[in-house]
Amino acid sequence: MSQNSPAHLTTTVPRRAVVTGAAGFIGSHLAHALVQAGAIVIGVDRRDPATDPTAAANLAALQGIPGYMHVTADLLSCAIEPLLVDANAVFHLAGIPGVRPSWGPKFSDYVASNILGTHRVMDAVARMGVPRLVVASSSSVYGATDGGASVETDRPQPASPYAVTKLAEEQLCLAHSTQAHCPTSVVALRYFTVYGPRQRPDMYTHRALTAALTGQPLRLYGDGHQRRDFTYVDDAVSATITAATVPTAQGVINVGGGSGASLLEVINIARSLTGREVQVHQEHPRSGDVLTTRANRSRAQEVLGWQPQVDLHNGMRAHMRALAAELHAEEPRSHGLRSFDGSAPLA
Ligand code: NAD
Repeated sequence: MSQNSPAHLTTTVPRRAVVTGAAGFIGSHLAHALVQAGAIVIGVDRRDPATDPTAAANLAALQGIPGYMHVTADLLSCAIEPLLVDANAVFHLAGIPGVRPSWGPKFSDYVASNILGTHRVMDAVARMGVPRLVVASSSSVYGATDGGASVETDRPQPASPYAVTKLAEEQLCLAHSTQAHCPTSVVALRYFTVYGPRQRPDMYTHRALTAALTGQPLRLYGDGHQRRDFTYVDDAVSATITAATVPTAQGVINVGGGSGASLLEVINIARSLTGREVQVHQEHPRSGDVLTTRANRSRAQEVLGWQPQVDLHNGMRAHMRALAAELHAEEPRSHGLRSFDGSAPLA
C-alpha cells in the first residue's frame, strides 16, 4: 500500500532465507515480502496451519507460492541445522509477545521461547555459518522514559518480565556474535508497536478498530494518554529485510514508525475511519505499560538508510479494511455488523 510497500521497496533480498515465527503477524508479512522479491524462504513455526485457524489465515497468501516452504516445528526441540542449509540470512521472529500475560504463570513460556529457543537458534546459525541473523527485539526493553526519544545507547530498564526476556534475547545473540570466530553478524531490531492487517487480536489498534466496526466495547487500560510510536507492518518489514542485506549493519537498531500518538487519538482515528462511535470501558492501568514509547531513528537512517513511509491514518485505514473483510467473512451477526455495508463511512 505504501510507496515503499515491501514488495517493491526491496530490490536486494537474501537469496535463501529462514523466517522463524512465520505463522505469526509480522513473520507472515516478512515471509511474503521476501518471496515476492525473489527469495527462497523456509518459514518455521510451531503453530500448525492445518489445525490453527490464525496460522492458516496468516499463511493464506503464501499457500502454494513457489519459493515458500512451511515447516511446523517447535524451536525448543526440533533439529534446526537442517533448516539452515545454504541460508544467507535467518530472521528470528518466533517468540512469545505481550507485556501483560508475562506477569503470570506463563512467564516460563516466555523464558523458554524467547531465551532458550533463541539460544538454540543462535547456536545453530553460528554452527552452520549463516552470515547474518536478524532478531526481533522490542521497544519495551527501554522501560519508562522521560517522554524523549529512546536512543539505542540508552541504558535499558525493562519494566515487565516480557521486556526482560526480549533484552536477554537480543543480548544473547549479540554476545554470541562477538565471540572470536563467530561467522554470524547480528542485527537486533527494537520494534515499536507494529500494527496493520493480521495484527494480533490482543493488540490495541486491532481492538480499537474491532470495537469501532462491531460496536463491542473497547477496554482501555489507564486514561488513554499513553503514547506509542506506532509502526506500520510494511515499514517494519522493509527495515527487517534491509537489516539482512546491508553488509556493515550490526548491533541494536530502533524501528519506530514515527507515528507518535496517544491511545485516545487512535480511538478518534478509528471513529473517523468507520463513522462509528467507540464505546470505551476504562480500567486501571496494567503493570509494565509505560507512559510513552518513542524511537530515535538516527541509527536506522544512518545504518540502513531506512525511514518509515506510512502515517498512522493511512496505516489504520489499511488495517481497518482488512479487519472489516475478515469480520464479514466470519459470521456477520455475531459481530453486530448487520448495518455495515463497507461503503462511504469507511473511505
Ligand atoms: P506473533 O505471536 O503473531 O508471532 C510469533 C510466532 O512465533 C507465533 O506464530 C508463534 O507460534 C511462534 N513461536 C513462538 N514460540 C515458538 C517456538 N518455540 N517454536 C516455533 N515457533 C514459535 O507475534 P508478532 O507480533 O508477529 O511478533 C513477532 C516478534 O516480534 C516477536 O518476537 C515479538 O516479541 C517481536 N515484537 C513484536 C512487536 C509488535 O508490535 N507486534 C513489538 C516488539 C517486538
